[in-house]
Amino acid sequence: MLDRSLQLGAAIDRENGKILQDRRTIRLKAFQGDEWYNISVEAKTCDCPDFLNGACCEHLNALGIHRLKPFIPKTHPTFSQALSGMVKSIRLRRVEDSVYWLVSLDTFQEAQSRFRTARRILIASAEDGHSVAVMEKVVDSFKKISKVDAGIEQLAAELVRICKVPNWWHASTGGHDYIYHGMVGERQLLQLRTERSSENFKNMLGRAIVEQDKTKALAVAMGFSQCRFGGTKQAEFLLECAKKADHKEAQRLAMVHLSAKRHYPAITTSFVSQHGCWQVELVLLLT
Ligand SMILES: [Zn+2]
Repeated sequence: MLDRSLQLGAAIDRENGKILQDRRTIRLKAFQGDEWYNISVEAKTCDCPDFLNGACCEHLNALGIHRLKPFIPKTHPTFSQALSGMVKSIRLRRVEDSVYWLVSLDTFQEAQSRFRTARRILIASAEDGHSVAVMEKVVDSFKKISKVDAGIEQLAAELVRICKVPNWWHASTGGHDYIYHGMVGERQLLQLRTERSSENFKNMLGRAIVEQDKTKALAVAMGFSQCRFGGTKQAEFLLECAKKADHKEAQRLAMVHLSAKRHYPAITTSFVSQHGCWQVELVLLLT
């Protein structure tokens, strides 16, 4: 009798355990294809190939399940944290803070630390500033400042060069006008009835330049990123537009991006494609 009730109890426990397990597992259909994946809410795992190969899993992301790294308090920032500190200081145009982080970065013995620092300075030159001359200078200096034995003062000089030019959103550079047209352009893009193809966006930009329509031009700059029209292709097309319009500064800006890509292809993908700011500057120059 006792044995039977024990067996029954164990069976109920197993059943409850299965129900509990089922409740903690989400079945999710693949975003492309017919596969189904199991997501464990508790363990924050997915059985899709991406997750199993250690890559970023889009299913956990879509469900808002994030695997948090444990916080380990340390007295000093890591190399990546110091690099991030330098980038934030440049974006805020704080020269002294950016040099502080540069000095901190100089103490690390990580592989390619000098190269990574110089690469981030190169990207920063095109991230928030409008000055074509500054971008050209930093592209010219890159080969020198990315060398292991480059003097820290050479890198600091580039930081000063970038920080001394105001951000695009600063009132003195007409940032409010830029933001206004960008927001209206974003709405125009949402209401666009035509197909979001690169050909359509290219035609739209051609018309915007002729009509001197900043809003439409900014809508196109945002639209390019929605139709798999890569950074280099954008730069080439905008160079074509700048030549057609015989706009010298716009041609120089397009060339800065293309030359960075030509001279340092391995490192400049982000310089050309990830920083949308420059192509927006370019279309604004043209309109
Ligand atoms: Zn997954």
